[in-house]
Amino acid sequence: MERAFSIFVISLSRRSPGEGGRIRVSFFVISAFACPAVVPRLRDESGCFVICFPFCASCVTFPFMRRAIYPGSFDPITNGHLDVIERARKLFDEVVVAVAHNDEKQPLFSLKDRLDLLRETAGKIDNVRIAEFEGLLVEFARKEEAGAVIRGLRAVSDFEFEFQMALMNRKLDAAVETIFLMPKEEYTYLSSRIVKEIARLGGDVSAFVPVLVARALAIKLKKNISTK
Ligand code: ADP
Repeated sequence: MERAFSIFVISLSRRSPGEGGRIRVSFFVISAFACPAVVPRLRDESGCFVICFPFCASCVTFPFMRRAIYPGSFDPITNGHLDVIERARKLFDEVVVAVAHNDEKQPLFSLKDRLDLLRETAGKIDNVRIAEFEGLLVEFARKEEAGAVIRGLRAVSDFEFEFQMALMNRKLDAAVETIFLMPKEEYTYLSSRIVKEIARLGGDVSAFVPVLVARALAIKLKKNISTK
């Protein structure tokens, strides 16, 4: 009796996610015929196949994404954050702006409000995605297949803390690289904390945050004052 069979083998290979590059998919079709008259030497004494013929092989390559995570509290997002995002998105295929669940900092805005403000501002920019995460940053980076963490550096005062964090994250996962980006000089003195302070004292923050955020700050602080 004549029988034939084929085995399809698909192999995937890629570089580490952060390195970008390409993902390669190789297809192999291995065929053999079970007719002893045609290929008698394919069988051993017990009649089992001992050889297979590689029949055809082909490769297809797909581009692979370079992704970075920009973590923070974003309480609320400022023009300084947006400046960093703009710089990062030119270096990576995708930038994931990730809000940390960190109640220790006692944020002014709830997690949902911070995410909404981010979605309405940074989320509208091409190749920027908004996310949230809990737990270790390196684990989130691994889950997202990101090879880099973006942090902003404003002044020497940021350096010590950021340096310590970057080295600790490297210790936890050497595959995740921390990249520091400096904003325009006019944003080097800007922080979410200062913006909240100015708004609380009735100052104009429209030069420091997107319009939507300035409005949200005014509403939030009015509500906070009236409930005191
Ligand atoms: P975190 O609680 O992680 O410090 P922030 O929202 O305050 O969260 O900041 C997130 C990141 O953005 C940090 O790396 C911080 O240094 C950076 N950053 C904040 N404000 C600015 C700014 N004005 N210019 C550049 N980087 C900034």
